Formats: sequence, C-alpha cells, structure tokens
Amino acid sequence: MQMKWPMSVLIKSIQFLKILLRCWHVTTLLGRCILLSFFSLYTYATTTHTPYAHVRVLLDQLSLKEGKPLTISTTGDHLMLMHMGSVKRRVSKQSIVVTHKRGQLYIDGRRYRPQECAITTFGGHLQYNNRSYDGSFQLLLHNDSLLVINKVPLEAYICSVLHSESWPGWPLEVNKVFAVACRSYVLSMIAQAIKQEQPYDVCNTNLHQTYAGKHDKKVLKDAVAQTKGVVLVHEGKPIRAMFDSCCGGVIPAHIADVHFPDAPYLARDYPCTHCKDLWIYSWQAEFTPQQLHEKLLAKIGHRMRISDLLVSKRDKAGLVQEVLVHGATPVPVAGKELYTLCKEIKSFCYTIERKKDTILVKGKGYGHHLGLCQWGARQMVADHWDYRRILHFYYPQTKLMRFV
Ligand SMILES: [Zn+2]
Repeated sequence: MQMKWPMSVLIKSIQFLKILLRCWHVTTLLGRCILLSFFSLYTYATTTHTPYAHVRVLLDQLSLKEGKPLTISTTGDHLMLMHMGSVKRRVSKQSIVVTHKRGQLYIDGRRYRPQECAITTFGGHLQYNNRSYDGSFQLLLHNDSLLVINKVPLEAYICSVLHSESWPGWPLEVNKVFAVACRSYVLSMIAQAIKQEQPYDVCNTNLHQTYAGKHDKKVLKDAVAQTKGVVLVHEGKPIRAMFDSCCGGVIPAHIADVHFPDAPYLARDYPCTHCKDLWIYSWQAEFTPQQLHEKLLAKIGHRMRISDLLVSKRDKAGLVQEVLVHGATPVPVAGKELYTLCKEIKSFCYTIERKKDTILVKGKGYGHHLGLCQWGARQMVADHWDYRRILHFYYPQTKLMRFV
C-alpha cells in the first residue's frame, strides 16, 4: 500500500498553467510559471482521487426529491469548479448556491452538465454549514441523493477527528495513541471503500469517526505530526482500530456477536484495569415505569403498563443481550436496543433492580467495550506508558509501521 504520484500530474499542470496565465497580470513571467505550477499540482492533488493520500468524507446526503439548495463558500477570493481534473468554471465570488433538478446540477442557477463536480479554492478554505474544511469538495448525484463529500488530506483528517473524538486538555502522549488508532481505522475503511467501489470512504458521524472540519488545537496537531504515517497493522493491513470512552473492565474476547476471526486484534483476552478508579467507570440511571414506557413505546408497538424490567440473557463478558419488559405480556428487547433507546444507559454492561416506584439500572463502562479504552489509556500515560506500549496492550497481535 503506497501513495503514488502519477506522471500525468505534469500534463495536468501544463493544462492548468495555460488557463490560469490568462487571468494572472501581476507577477513576472517566471513568477507566474512557478506559482501556477504549484497551484496546478495542488489543484490536481486535491480534486483527483489518490487512494490512501486522501479521505473522502461524506458530509451530507440530500434527497433529490426535496431539492434543498446548499451553499458552499470560501475564505479565499474565488472558487474553482472542476471535472475530471480540468477547470470547468472559475467563480469570482466567495460563495455559490447549488441546486438540483431532474438529475442535473445547477450552480448559481446555471446548469452544470456533468453529474459530479469537484470544488476547490486557492488561498483559503472551503466552508459548508458554518464549518471550514481542508481539501476540496465533491458534489455527486448518486442514486436518489446529492452527496456532499469532502476530500481531505489524510493527516488533516486525523487532526480534525481528534478534535471531536479526544478529550479537551488531555496530554500529548495520549493524543498520539488516538492519532494512530484513528489513522489505522480510516485506512482500513478506505481499503474497504475501494474494494466495494463506494463513492466515499467514511461518514462524518460517530457511525465511523466524528469529523467536524478544521481547528487550531496545537496539542492535536503535534500528536498527528509526531506520529505522521504511523499505523497499526495485522497481517500487513491497517486494522479497524475501534475505541470507546471506557471499557468498564469487560474482556472483549468474551463478547458474543463479534466475528473475531475477521478482527483478531479486537479479541483482547485480559482485562483493562487502568480505568477502574475513574469517575466514568460506573454509572447508574433511574427510570419510572412511565418514563421507560415513553422510551420503549416505538419498540413495543403498543401501550402497556410496565411492571418490571429483567435481564433475561447475558453473554460471557457480562454484556446484556436481552431484556424482558414485564407488563400484561412480557416483551423481549435486545440489550443493545435498550442502550440505543435510553441515552441514560451508557454501555451494554449493566444490572437492573426494581426500587419501590422506580427501576434502577447500574452499569460499567461507556461505549461498546471493544478496542481501545480512552480513559484507561489516559491513566496509562499518567503511569508513564508510551503510546506504542498502550496500543499493543489494547490491540494484541498487531505491529506498528509507517505508512508511506
Ligand atoms: Zn478500561
């Protein structure tokens, strides 16, 4: 797996040079050549897909039926609309409005013939929904949707993800742990997207890794720079390095419903005890039967008087697989569904008690219990572990290597 810089870059650069020289009246001839060559290389690199050098992040998926317009702007002077690496239109203002009708894109009311459009800028950053982004955008009509995709350089993507997925004020070393885990995860997702010919690699939500564009947090930039290109691999491939906030001491290898042969590096068969004294390790939530009824109504499908809630099935790791909602007739609810429906329930590892007029749920951990335990890693850093040792603890059978 290596990033390659195609020879056709030179040809593209010359094409862009010709176009842009017409618009450039300030500098000397030599200055123009140098600047425009750089610009051409930059534009080509940010709008043409080079697998693994960039991440294609889905920012939005708009229904074609609704036809909702979207606005893309720049902090620079102008926007450049590209198709297949060539400039289709230069827009000398700082924002455009994109609409779509009958399977066609319209930009500022003018029809844009290709069904996809790459948008880039120079000397600034692109903006969408009040957030700034590195790289370029791609608008793509796909099935019944208009996809808004941000094509962002890999390391800039990792830096942005850390801003959402790390914790404010945490030390550099623990952010290096997260940087390597995030990088490994997204590279495995890129490999999957290429194999499945998907139009994007990851979503911008916690379905994959939360991504909210640019920021200026120095400690996060340093963590990314100091681990640049470092990934965890298993049998030569980047691993899907999952992580949660706190593992609650659950041993992942004992969790049912995970196909560990596909990801043996998630089958850690020893506990993390590093988080056990931290506030996040245990939690509890109390519900009245009426509150539970409101939360579970959509799942149960009919009104009923809830008398109790009992765990009916648990796996070897202690994770709840099924809960019985007692009323006129017991209704089974999957443990993970209860977690999804009740945001007060923080993990899959919990017990339930009836307490007079309320139902008390007591749990351990925060998240899905697989992979890296963020709060455990933070404690390990406080105990003088370095990022490499921490990663090997949480992801057994893996190696660290530098991605070139
Ligand atoms: Zn832990």
